[in-house]
Amino acid sequence: MTALLILGIQNDFMQSGALTVPDAESLIPLINALIPKFPLVIAVQDWHPADHVSFASNHAGKHPGDIVMVAGHEQALWPPHCIQNTHGAALVDGLHKDKIEKVFHKGTDTAIDSYSAFFDNARGKATGLGDYLLERHVKELTIVGVATEYGVLYSAWDATDLGFSVVVIKIACRGINLKPRDVENGYLAMKAKGAVII
Ligand SMILES: [Zn+2]
Repeated sequence: MTALLILGIQNDFMQSGALTVPDAESLIPLINALIPKFPLVIAVQDWHPADHVSFASNHAGKHPGDIVMVAGHEQALWPPHCIQNTHGAALVDGLHKDKIEKVFHKGTDTAIDSYSAFFDNARGKATGLGDYLLERHVKELTIVGVATEYGVLYSAWDATDLGFSVVVIKIACRGINLKPRDVENGYLAMKAKGAVII
């Protein structure tokens, strides 16, 4: 069984949102065109409490783009985004949600972020996605969405570690490029782990 994993197609990552991923809107028709081609479609939402550790506003004197250490890992700081049960966290209206079988949430703990759709950044807690995919006998996972060098990269890494065949559709992903080569390096890192980039 093959499944489509849609990451971060949420209002806050769009142009009018709190943490815009450039050109993310252009993914909506592309992803809608992909949805009917997969027997199983899953979406993942960034889903933070208001006091989340990844928000620069929760660190005195820090600004979006700064890096702090959290649980021994580098944590990039962002503007507050995708706060649970807000419009910003909702999946965008134009996405064909009726074919999405299940939605998983990540980044739900105040004290730790989660770039990956599978585990938090300390790999302390699972979102349940991995077990769900095993239950559904999924062998191959196709990943699309945002952001390339965060959610897509870390989800692709974890998926390969968990034994899934991973395909990432480049034209259906968008990144942030805090540093100019972040997206490019993200693809190289995914490839190095065995993900197929098409
Ligand atoms: Zn986030």
